[in-house]
Amino acid sequence: MALLFGVLSILVSAPTYLVISHIQKEQILDEQRAILQNMADAAATVIAENLVQRRREIELLAQSDTFRTAPLDGKAVHIALERLKKSYPHYSWIGLTDPEGIVRSATSNHLVGQSAAARPWFQKGRFNVFVGDVHEALLLTKLLPQTEPGQPARFIDFASPVISEDGQLRGVLAAHAHWRWAGTALKAATPRDADQTGIQLFIVNDQDRIIYPEQGAAPQSTTVNEDLLSRHGKNFLAWGRDGRFLITASAVAEPTALSTLNWRVVVRQPESILLANVARLQRAILLISILGVVVFILLAWQAASLISRPIERLTDSARRIRQGDEHARFSAPPASSRELQELSKALEGMSNTLLEQKHALETSNQRLEIKVAHRTEELHRLNRELESLARTDALTGTPNRMAANEALLREFARFKRGHPPYAVLMMDIDHFKRINDTYGHATGDDILRSVASIIRDAIRGTDFFGRVGGEEFMALLLATDQIQAESVAEKLRSIVESTGLEPVGTVTISIGACIVQTSDRNPDDALKRADEALYRAKAAGRNRVVVSNESTRP
Ligand code: GH3
Ligand code: MG
Ligand code: MG
Repeated sequence: MALLFGVLSILVSAPTYLVISHIQKEQILDEQRAILQNMADAAATVIAENLVQRRREIELLAQSDTFRTAPLDGKAVHIALERLKKSYPHYSWIGLTDPEGIVRSATSNHLVGQSAAARPWFQKGRFNVFVGDVHEALLLTKLLPQTEPGQPARFIDFASPVISEDGQLRGVLAAHAHWRWAGTALKAATPRDADQTGIQLFIVNDQDRIIYPEQGAAPQSTTVNEDLLSRHGKNFLAWGRDGRFLITASAVAEPTALSTLNWRVVVRQPESILLANVARLQRAILLISILGVVVFILLAWQAASLISRPIERLTDSARRIRQGDEHARFSAPPASSRELQELSKALEGMSNTLLEQKHALETSNQRLEIKVAHRTEELHRLNRELESLARTDALTGTPNRMAANEALLREFARFKRGHPPYAVLMMDIDHFKRINDTYGHATGDDILRSVASIIRDAIRGTDFFGRVGGEEFMALLLATDQIQAESVAEKLRSIVESTGLEPVGTVTISIGACIVQTSDRNPDDALKRADEALYRAKAAGRNRVVVSNESTRP
């Protein structure tokens, strides 16, 4: 999450930085352009005002009474010239000519008597106030004290016609101002830190030549073409071999209505210095942007710790619970957001409920299993009981016919395996119908129970005895031969007969007996022989024992 926000903040701040730094650069350049333009305008104004002031001084002096009336080479004129020269330090020479151009009076008497008829200031100054372009004056240079040895002094001329009271031209008053003057004027408009900012001011004349600063201090390219100036201010321009500059220019107002000096003040500042300033500012913006991104990433990191780390913890808990860890807990750190706290509480509640339900299910399963085990046990017991009931005669409590058949099968199999032979005894109560008829069915039942009990008590515990029909019983005497079988049968018949059973009195039974033979194919063979013997005992008069293949005995 922190990574995502970091990338996002870079994606947002990088174009922002580029746009801001571009706008910033444009703004700086615009501001600088305005500053340079102001500088050029101010310098142009100062120069124009200076020119006008000099012009007016000459003009006023020419119109003064002294100049209109006093002799041209008189003292009054000379004093006035010297006074004017003193008033302004840059006046190098002020003189007055006669109408023919001969200098009649001059400061320090320089050039007095010489002809200036060929000079432009004289030519034009005869008719109008004149301000001339900068020029060298070799003659005058020699006369003046040397300030810059080797360099020809340059001057600017101001001239005005002197008109007599009757309107005739008396002469021409002229002043040469040293061109150093321009430097003073420009200096007033030049910023103090021009050296560091690389800002330079120039005065350019009508021929696109740089007239200030003068040779030496001037730039390598001393001409500025019109193209350079017409496109000034728009962008960086190449200035000859000097390099590229931001350039502004301002026209210097003409000092007289007729003058055509067409001077311009040009201000330039090197691109390299300006761009260095821009670069410094851009570095500051970049630094702030980077700081902003870092702060943003730190905040995103903090936000991530409030949101994604708690979610990771919850996920971990959920995973542990899935793997069966019942002790895993859902808990959001206290510093996480309220929504996450709520979510973890809800998850904790859900997991607790599920665990409780799971435990309840386990407990109920255990109870169910115990119940099922009990029921199964009960079922087995009942089955065993049922089995035993199925083989027990309800009335007498002795084994029934099913049990008798099983005993026959079991003993026959044993005999076949080599066990000693057994005897089969079939017993039937004599004239039982009469007992029922005489005493009722209930008494009949009692008699049945009593006879069964008597016979069971009379035979060995290892022998089988059961009720196999209405008033018929069967006994299997194990390991018994024919003689023993006959004797046991006789003993049973005799015990029943001799036991008086109330209310009937004497009850007798008939018995058919036989011994299992090796020739018998199944257990029923012996049974059949015993049944036949019983039938013969009945036929022979009842209350007797008949052993199969034996003569009936009373
Ligand atoms: P015999 O000497 O030829 O055996 O004559 P009997 O009357 O004993 O023989 P019979 O077959 O003619 O009669 C058997 C009678 O036993 C008929 C029946 O009502 C009676 N009886 C059978 N089972 C029960 C019983 O469970 N209870 C009672 N009270 N009577 C029974
Ligand atoms: Mg019978
Ligand atoms: Mg009978």
